[in-house]
Amino acid sequence: MSDQQIRKARSHVNQSEDLIFERSAPGKRGMALPRLDVPAVSAAEALGADLTRDDVSGFPEISEIEAVRHFTRLSTWNYAIDYGMYPLGSCTMKYNPRVNEFVARLEGIATEHPYQPAELAQGCLRILRDLERALLAITGMDAITLEPAAGAQGELTGLLVIHAHLRDRDGHPRKKVLIPDSAHGTNPASVALTGYAVENIRSDASGQVDFEELRRLVNEDVAALMLTNPNTLGVFEERIADVAQVLHERGALLYMDGANMNALAGVVRPGDLGVDVMHLNLHKTFSTPHGGGGPGAGPVAVKKILEPFLPVPAIVEEADGRLRLDTERPKSVGRVKAFGGNFGVLVRALAYILAYGPGIRQATEDAVLNANYLRAKLQDAYDLPYSTPSMHEVVFSDARQRKNGVNTIDIAKRLIDYGFHPYTTAFPLIVHGAMMIEPTESESREECDLFVDAMRSIAEEAATDPNLVKSAPRSTRVGRLDEVAAARKPILRWKPSE
Ligand SMILES: *Cc1c(COP(=O)(O)O)cnc(C)c1O
Repeated sequence: MSDQQIRKARSHVNQSEDLIFERSAPGKRGMALPRLDVPAVSAAEALGADLTRDDVSGFPEISEIEAVRHFTRLSTWNYAIDYGMYPLGSCTMKYNPRVNEFVARLEGIATEHPYQPAELAQGCLRILRDLERALLAITGMDAITLEPAAGAQGELTGLLVIHAHLRDRDGHPRKKVLIPDSAHGTNPASVALTGYAVENIRSDASGQVDFEELRRLVNEDVAALMLTNPNTLGVFEERIADVAQVLHERGALLYMDGANMNALAGVVRPGDLGVDVMHLNLHKTFSTPHGGGGPGAGPVAVKKILEPFLPVPAIVEEADGRLRLDTERPKSVGRVKAFGGNFGVLVRALAYILAYGPGIRQATEDAVLNANYLRAKLQDAYDLPYSTPSMHEVVFSDARQRKNGVNTIDIAKRLIDYGFHPYTTAFPLIVHGAMMIEPTESESREECDLFVDAMRSIAEEAATDPNLVKSAPRSTRVGRLDEVAAARKPILRWKPSE
């Protein structure tokens, strides 16, 4: 056989699978149906000629086993946390225990109708109620809504709550929200959607909010500061209690982006630090499979004074222990999502929390330990722009490799050849050529060591053979995609080549 024939025959080994159209051969059928024992009716007779067609030109003709193998092989190219380490910083790609899936699929949970009256849905409401209690215990806050479907929607909900509270308190909602320059992009987007202006606040040399700058900026126009803690550099904002005090003295509120709770859960309660509003990313910290856009859940927890403004319906417990949905909240910002939120994600989060119990603290400590292990093992190979201690993630930069023309994207692409999902590139924005690495608590020492070996080997390659790194990935069917063309001139339909 020629090389090309071998490659085609063994395509599943080297990731060069043909398109299903290219495997098509005229007359092949996916399945053969048994002989009809009733009169035949054509689709055109049944549905009308205007709704049917005789021929779909170019439709692939392929046997059942070929179709099954084609899609099964493709499925093995998906990188997943179940496949290997997924160090995508900020996304907290931790292992999602199978027991969560088992619980979410139980009869009466997966099959409950969303319009079931509350009297007949006491079990599901109890699940939501228990999750609310668990999250309040973990955050140290007073009240919570489980409705928002993502971190970003939680941000919007929390800001709407602040807006409604300030209008109620002062007669006007104030004008702007402060955001550190290290913030996640969803923060300014949520601020703008709420109708506030964004004002940037810079980070100091330690990677934390510049406290003196904050003092200067907080005035009667400022509704809130949105602070991520630990921030996107993986650095704990040590002065958060002072930050809260400065804001409170001038009538402003502290919003905490809690997407990084994987560094705090079971150890620190944001409610004790002066935080007024925060969201959680259940799909990150509390283990729901995520990526590719969902599903997610972004509960918003608040201090007592903000409770009247939370979305409706609220789950209320009667004296006899029965639960009901209360929509009579005149100051509420309204409903932000149907059916109490993404129920399946909420169930998984509760299953995870109950399975761990107080062990949540151990998960947090292991996440921090793993990030610091990688930091210690890699800091002589890669530039560490901030020497402040790391929490659950560590941010390096490509400064050393850039001298040889190799950047963070090149290194990330080369990691694919070593069998790892890339880390997060080019974020946070305040680090030029950022390499943001979050191993999570799921990884063993052995897996961390393999990652360290890969990263050190790539650093070596960048020094001795930079073109090797710049041309990665070399192990995949396609190398570098033209991402601009893919967005601007997408080709969404296959056509036979002439
Ligand atoms: C992931 C993330 C968000 C947004 O959460 P989504 O659930 O993706 O909408 C916001 N802030 C930070 C710091 C994050 O890491």
